[in-house]
Amino acid sequence: MRAFVQVDLAAIKNNIALVRSKTSSQILAVVKADAYGHGLVPVAKCAVESGASWLGVALLEEGLTLRESGIKAPIISWLTPPSSDFKKAIQSDIDLSIPSLKHLELIVAAGKAVGKRPRVHIEIDTGMSRGGLLGEWEEFLIAVKGAEVDVIGFWSHFARADEPDQVANVNQLTQFESKLAELQGVGINPEFIHFANSAAILTNPSSHKDIVRLGISMYGLSPDVKTLGSSINLELEPAMTLKAELHLVKRVPAGSPVGYGATQVTSRDTKLAIVAMGYADGIPRSTSDSAGVFVAGAKAPIIGRVSMDQFVVDLGPESTAQTGDIAEVFGALGYSADDWASAAGTINYEIVTRIATRVPRIYA
Ligand SMILES: *Cc1c(COP(=O)(O)O)cnc(C)c1O
Repeated sequence: MRAFVQVDLAAIKNNIALVRSKTSSQILAVVKADAYGHGLVPVAKCAVESGASWLGVALLEEGLTLRESGIKAPIISWLTPPSSDFKKAIQSDIDLSIPSLKHLELIVAAGKAVGKRPRVHIEIDTGMSRGGLLGEWEEFLIAVKGAEVDVIGFWSHFARADEPDQVANVNQLTQFESKLAELQGVGINPEFIHFANSAAILTNPSSHKDIVRLGISMYGLSPDVKTLGSSINLELEPAMTLKAELHLVKRVPAGSPVGYGATQVTSRDTKLAIVAMGYADGIPRSTSDSAGVFVAGAKAPIIGRVSMDQFVVDLGPESTAQTGDIAEVFGALGYSADDWASAAGTINYEIVTRIATRVPRIYA
């Protein structure tokens, strides 16, 4: 096969079990963005079987796909701009997040239109200045009191949970508690309070509340290798292995320029391999030779620029790799997703999430 992603569902199960051992809160498995590139429905089913009692998605379409696949677990969708089909969401038993007065109005109206009370989670901005209620809070408190919605949850999101010593984390939690008290002050007592993402799950038990929202670490990756340590340090098992076929192996002399712009030149007579993946598949275009592939028992660093459908690695003159061999692009043997992230100046989240849909996912 030209290129494929292998997803190890047993690793996902083990990562959920590890989190289970660290918290007594309910676990919400975050499966947005095609389960961080691992495949929405297979991962969601595995997560529910492994003890996650909730599923979380950004887009409503993602939640609807889960319902269409027969999944019955509660689902929260938290990125629903005003044009979203709230009626469909309510009819499909998808919990909605409310980040503004406008959303409250639209969701109440949709609930009336379909004759069913919407289930909602009130989102507040506690210092990230991204989603959630902030300036409209006082007005919102008046509006939500008596509104035709069931307030199931109250939640916020950390900006800097991967820096556990940051005072910003304490400040966000303080804001959260005081806003919650104000909500309770108008007689609304949500059953499920939630705040923690992976980094907070791993480092900040006081943030766990009723539900923890587990994303990157369910997939076996560290939320931040620099501040929290690697997957191995955290006892997580990366679930994704990316493999690609060698389209061509050939000998080239020393001094051969490689790829567009001739940004690198071979330093010796060597063997190169053309790997059948490129930036159209989600391989970052800007990488240094600190990433590469593992093939024929050795690491082969990337050389030259990544093209749309292919990139070149330097196998070294002694390599036994051959045209048609399958190389590991990232995985347990050679380079990790973290190695690719640092080579591209990004984070592991972006590496796994951007593997394109034209790359098939295979489950073990
Ligand atoms: C993506 C996301 C998460 C999961 O974050 P991780 O760092 O991947 O654990 C949790 N909550 C919300 C609202 C998110 O958007």
